[in-house]
Amino acid sequence: MTVGIIGAGISGLTLAYELQKQGIHYQLWEASAQPGGYIQSRREQAGASSGGSYLLESGPNSLLGDSALLEWIDELGLAPEVLFSKPVSKARFVFRDGRYRELPSGPPSLLFGRFFSWKTKLAIWRERSNKTLSPTGETLAQFFRRRFSQELVDYALGPFVAGIYAGNPEQLLVSETFPILLRYEKEYGSVIRGLIKNQSKTERRQSFSFKNGMQTLTDGLAARLTNLSLNTPVEQIVPVQAGWQVTVGGKTEVVDKLVIAVGTEAAAQLVAPYNDTFATRLRAVVYPPMSVVHSVYNRAAVDHSLNGFGGLNPKMEGQFAAGHIWSSSIFDGRCPADEVLFTTFVGGTQSARNARQQDDVLLSTVHQELTKGFGIRAGSGPVFQSVRRWERAIPQYDAAIVAVKEPVILAEKDQLFVCANWYGGVSLSDCIQKAQKMAPQLKNNLIIANL
Ligand SMILES: Cc1cc2nc3c(=O)[nH]c(=O)nc-3n(C[C@H](O)[C@H](O)[C@H](O)COP(=O)(O)OP(=O)(O)OC[C@H]3O[C@@H](n4cnc5c(N)ncnc54)[C@H](O)[C@@H]3O)c2cc1C
Repeated sequence: MTVGIIGAGISGLTLAYELQKQGIHYQLWEASAQPGGYIQSRREQAGASSGGSYLLESGPNSLLGDSALLEWIDELGLAPEVLFSKPVSKARFVFRDGRYRELPSGPPSLLFGRFFSWKTKLAIWRERSNKTLSPTGETLAQFFRRRFSQELVDYALGPFVAGIYAGNPEQLLVSETFPILLRYEKEYGSVIRGLIKNQSKTERRQSFSFKNGMQTLTDGLAARLTNLSLNTPVEQIVPVQAGWQVTVGGKTEVVDKLVIAVGTEAAAQLVAPYNDTFATRLRAVVYPPMSVVHSVYNRAAVDHSLNGFGGLNPKMEGQFAAGHIWSSSIFDGRCPADEVLFTTFVGGTQSARNARQQDDVLLSTVHQELTKGFGIRAGSGPVFQSVRRWERAIPQYDAAIVAVKEPVILAEKDQLFVCANWYGGVSLSDCIQKAQKMAPQLKNNLIIANL
């Protein structure tokens, strides 16, 4: 049996590696010259005045993983490269009333701290006796308003969802993003009660990267693969009696099973001749744009302690950026010790226009916002700044993505499968887990798509 895999992002690479381990023959095709998809780490040298060297992430900055994921990374031989986030980065900050304030991290600080009003604290306390149940198609914002308060939606959920999905909680569905909340509501009659009951059962996941950045993972996977072809875009796929005929570089080959591990736009183009409805639904999936701005300053020029992960900007605070990660507070070795590195995210569904501003506007507006938000001394410009743009950043798990499930399940009957971040979870750990699960299922001809 041969499995064809289209796309060597983390999803396709993991699937290929797992199939190889099981002795299943595969062929992985990647359109670009480099494997990894959104995972791109790069080193940049600063100008002569600073002389620093910076490790910059254009895409994901970290992975959230449990012990099983860490064991898998060990199996890849990458354990010595793992870099855990520093303990100080546990604190999360949110912009409110003109400054970054620390978000409560647990029940005591939530109920007794000063971040939330008494009304919200009371709503959290009373949530345990809220007997309502989620209707089908409920959005995250509707869920949190129904069980908690608008303030929680505005100042905790909204920024959090913008941080993970670059999305809008008024559009993202609770069933597609955090189904565990629905389970808690159903099984325990309360999210708070569900969290407490499961606290000891759920393994705490750790946030980590690698000494040379996230690309260590995808480069490491790619280096172990025997059948990865780079610079090889798949041009066409056609179902045939024996499986699928795949066209690459004008030549065709036939595989028994075919896995799509590309974004929805590329997937739509490939499946259109096979199933037009599938293609139409894929084209309806929304990906907002996101610009990632890296800014480095002399440590002495920044007043703020930067003791935390970063600062998120709620929509109603009217900031230009969606938020800033304090990269040098999270991981060692991102910039020289006497400097600090900010990674700023501009865009997402709620401020797509900002992401598309010209480079000079992006850089200067981010500098102004950092200056005000973190007390950067007047006249202290960044010693280094750069922009990386993603026109299509993250697929939105809203109503449009639900419509894609049906054709994905139907395609399985024709031996066409999906292993990508728009199906069953967007995070890197979701993508890895889905691929790990899919490999033995492909080997044993089991049903896969029922998520
Ligand atoms: C700015 C940003 C920050 C993020 N931060 C985090 C984070 O901190 N933590 C986290 O867990 N997640 C994060 N994510 C999400 C995560 O990076 C993605 O969900 C994940 O990398 C997607 O991987 P994938 O393999 O499914 O798809 P992709 O990475 O999109 O890979 C698809 C691959 O298919 C190739 N391809 C396309 N068409 C063809 C074709 N016709 N033939 C052959 N190959 C083709 C592409 O070149 C690409 O390499 C972030 C995403 C972005 C954009």
